[in-house]
Amino acid sequence: MTVAAEKALLEKVPTGLFVGGEWRPATAGSTFSVEDPATGSVLAEVANGTADDAAAALDAAVEAAGSWARTPPRERSDILRRTFDAVRARADEFALLMTMEMGKPLAEARGEVTYGNEFLRWFSEEAVRIAGRFGTNPEGTGRMIVSRHPVGPCHLITPWNFPLAMATRKIGPALAAGCTAVVKPAELTPLTTLLLTSVLAEAGLPAGVVNVVTTTDPGAVSGTIIADPRLRKLSFTGSTPVGQRLLGQAAKGVLRTSMELGGNAPFLVFADADVDAAVEGAMLAKFRNVGEACTAANRFVVAAEVADEFTAKVTARVEAMRVGRGTEDGVQIGPLINEAAREKAGALVGDAVDHGAEIVVGGRAVDGPGTFYAPTVVTGVRPGSRILREEIFGPVLAIATFDEEAEGVRLANDTEYGLVAYAYTRDLARGLRLVDALQTGMVGLNTGVVSNAAAPFGGVKQSGLGREGGLEGLNEYLDTRYTLVPDP
Ligand code: NAD
Repeated sequence: MTVAAEKALLEKVPTGLFVGGEWRPATAGSTFSVEDPATGSVLAEVANGTADDAAAALDAAVEAAGSWARTPPRERSDILRRTFDAVRARADEFALLMTMEMGKPLAEARGEVTYGNEFLRWFSEEAVRIAGRFGTNPEGTGRMIVSRHPVGPCHLITPWNFPLAMATRKIGPALAAGCTAVVKPAELTPLTTLLLTSVLAEAGLPAGVVNVVTTTDPGAVSGTIIADPRLRKLSFTGSTPVGQRLLGQAAKGVLRTSMELGGNAPFLVFADADVDAAVEGAMLAKFRNVGEACTAANRFVVAAEVADEFTAKVTARVEAMRVGRGTEDGVQIGPLINEAAREKAGALVGDAVDHGAEIVVGGRAVDGPGTFYAPTVVTGVRPGSRILREEIFGPVLAIATFDEEAEGVRLANDTEYGLVAYAYTRDLARGLRLVDALQTGMVGLNTGVVSNAAAPFGGVKQSGLGREGGLEGLNEYLDTRYTLVPDP
């Protein structure tokens, strides 16, 4: 990838706020820098939105809400479909932009374009299938109509780790349902959302239906929007502490909320597992996205009988991983998003070692520009280690062992999070028992990746509320109205 191609791409990315169908600077005129985590160089200066900009964006979303809700579903569907087609045609640009602002390897960024764009296609297809129910009441004296309606203006807040997919997973169903939105992308990776917004506008999205406010002051921007009684729905993806704070704010307006929060996924390997398949799944579940995924396997809980074999095989794979800027050929591990993320990975490994664990490979920062951390395997992780309780969000594979199935399940569930669990076993009966026993919103049974636009993604416990994707994802943006019509 040439420097000239990167420069040419950045010139196509808008850097303003998008309000009422127009690109404009922030009211205070200020901007902030977006950096490449692989090099530390500045990629772009982006408008730094204020509370006033947030209010203007919500005004625009409220003004457009009525006409967008009345827009025929087929037209809403066509706009989503045209956007899907345009993103697919420009997949290389979206992939490169994500690698530049977030750091993931280019091959994975391409994978995210395919996955993230699929939400636009899936929900373009669902937009024309929104249906209610009709029936006679049990008394036989009237007709009961249950109809579905867009909830109204939404506030959509996204994290930095999947810049395209987290945006499309919210914008797709919101638009399909007939809702308008103010989108607030993460300040670390706003460029992908800005490029997507320009594509939506080119696809014919009417002014005010999607508005975007970038900012380094998310508290002021989102606080202003959430406090406004005209807002009808908040959808947030990010960390559990910020989600908890936003839920508190949303409670004042009894706002509908969807919360996709943190995870602490267990990855169980039973003694009867196909260990080679488990290693394959582990590499994906752990190292995809540089380990910076809410679905990343955080704790490997391996049957003592196969722990040595699993550790040896996974270590051989990790030792061979290539670290570098995601644009370079063959790179599997890019930089972490920033220095704080790298320090956290190092601190969790250090704490595990203090508790008696052993570093098999890695366990160190990589010198030079960029915030790289070597892919790492840690074994013999003991109870009480922070790495078992906290999200690592980095390329660190931590292994603990168990003997009996019940102990494995107990360890897997020993967390306040409940997003996803992975389990490898050849025993179907055990697999079905696990599906019942694991306290998570999603289970990967003999697979290391579960995400799919057609499936309900989301967690239980402190991993969140609501689902994104599938029919469930659309329902998050629809209200239910019951009408009784007595027979004359
Ligand atoms: P974060 O909570 O720091 O930020 C998420 C978003 O919230 C960003 O847009 C940020 O600007 C905004 N924000 C931060 N403070 C805010 C405040 N006081 N008021 C309003 N908005 C605020 O999370 P992050 O570091 O961007 O993302 C990583 C986290 O996201 C991890 O915990 C990860 O597990 C989680 N995540 C969850 C899912 C899921 O679907 N469950 C998907 C991806 C990421």
